[in-house]
Amino acid sequence: MSEKFDVIVIGAGPAGYVAALRCAQLGMNTACVDDWQDSEGNPSLGGTCLNVGCIPSKALLDSSEKYSQTQHEFADHGISVGKVELDVSKMIERKNGIVSNLTKGIAGLFKANKITSLHGRGKLLANKQVEVSKDGKTATYSADNVIIAVGSEPISIPVAQVDNDVILDNAGALDINKVPKKLGVIGAGVIGLELGSVWKRLGSEVTLFEAMDEFLAPVDKQLSREAFRTFTKGQGLDIKLGAKVTETKVNKKSVRVTYELNGESHSDTFDKLIVAVGRRANTRDIASDDAGLKLDERGRVDVDDHCRTSIDGVYAIGDAVKGPMLAHKGSEEGVFVAEVIAGQKPHLNHDTVPWVIYTHPEIAWVGITEEQAKAQGIDYNTGFFPFAANGRSMAMNEKGGRVKVIADAKTDRVLGVHILGPNASELIAEAVLAMEYSASTEDIARTVHAHPTLSEALHEAALATTGRALHKV
Ligand code: FAD
Repeated sequence: MSEKFDVIVIGAGPAGYVAALRCAQLGMNTACVDDWQDSEGNPSLGGTCLNVGCIPSKALLDSSEKYSQTQHEFADHGISVGKVELDVSKMIERKNGIVSNLTKGIAGLFKANKITSLHGRGKLLANKQVEVSKDGKTATYSADNVIIAVGSEPISIPVAQVDNDVILDNAGALDINKVPKKLGVIGAGVIGLELGSVWKRLGSEVTLFEAMDEFLAPVDKQLSREAFRTFTKGQGLDIKLGAKVTETKVNKKSVRVTYELNGESHSDTFDKLIVAVGRRANTRDIASDDAGLKLDERGRVDVDDHCRTSIDGVYAIGDAVKGPMLAHKGSEEGVFVAEVIAGQKPHLNHDTVPWVIYTHPEIAWVGITEEQAKAQGIDYNTGFFPFAANGRSMAMNEKGGRVKVIADAKTDRVLGVHILGPNASELIAEAVLAMEYSASTEDIARTVHAHPTLSEALHEAALATTGRALHKV
């Protein structure tokens, strides 16, 4: 007889570990299977996000931003510093310390909540059995409910095979121990921009190759245009749009990249090349044929709007299913599914999932863009407010960016909020809450915002949708 649980979660990333925690809190006997291991071969919970994604990238973004400020900003504040030394190994060590604290923290939470942590590769078998294999040994468990949260992996492209020495994926890009003189990045999406920004701030000459002609396609056009100018002219990132990499040749410690741009072939040599062309669901060999698990056309686990798969009692969440590949989206699905299993009637609104790009300035948004409002034939109003006219922003020496609000012209309901500017990642939370409660721009306009704060820019942008901005520029 195999050991039986109320719930087995496969994957301990932000989707899976949160699902396991909520199941345990609701009184279910829960196990969580995960196969991640650190560089020393020890289990490390938290998935991509904690080990090689959200957290380590933000640690390095923060360190590199501080370094960059000493070079480019302190003088404006009347602060002069002597020669500033950079210790990349210390920076990486700090980042690794944060990762280790957080991943151990999850192990602690599992213990406190009596979750059985199973280290190994999980596979769904028929009748909600889960096989766990590790080092050639297998054990089989069964459960009333299974939650698949196997996450995603970087997409590899044949023209640039990752060796994590010269050609790097996101994990390798977070572990470079010396600032590369010249760094190439394939892909100018969220991950490419964040990682490119880290090394640019630390002194690399950075070129990003983006096959699409459009910069940051999902972002509202007004903001993406301003962001493009800031990143290229302002910060010196060389972003080549419509540039298709056709060949790479590694030569000991450098790589020659050949790319097509405007019908012509060009090449350049880099010390390191990061491949950041997107991610795909990690569903290879996730279920036996007789389990009956359906995948969709993109290899993700096929789920309905309640995260239910083709098998009764089997759910799937996070990067492994449709929707944006974002940690908080996966975590909320984890809570949702746990509560569904417990017989509750939870609510999860995928239309108000916020997006953030942690560049400087940050880009954050929720809801629809102006282009989407137009395409959907919606009669809408827009309101803007630039950070250049916001007192707190000036005090912080942050001059660029804006807040843009899109509202339904008839009902005044907020349909989208787009922010390019300082602390956009934090400011967007107010907009998410407003939209979750179906607020109108009038609701935001009538809400008292502290002065002087960056959030006053959202207040003014809400007022501006009806032509009432107080500090109109
Ligand atoms: P994952 O985090 O991928 O976790 C899945 C886990 O399941 C892993 O531990 C994996 O080893 C394990 N697993 C897979 N298959 C099996 C199996 N068969 N058996 C056992 N275990 C298995 N998102 C944000 O919201 N904000 C950010 O700032 C952000 N920054 C990012 C920066 C980078 C560089 C990258 C790469 C990603 C970033 N993301 C960010 C995306 C975020 O990391 C993912 O959306 C998130 O990790 C998905 O969570 P998940 O639980 O679905 O999957």
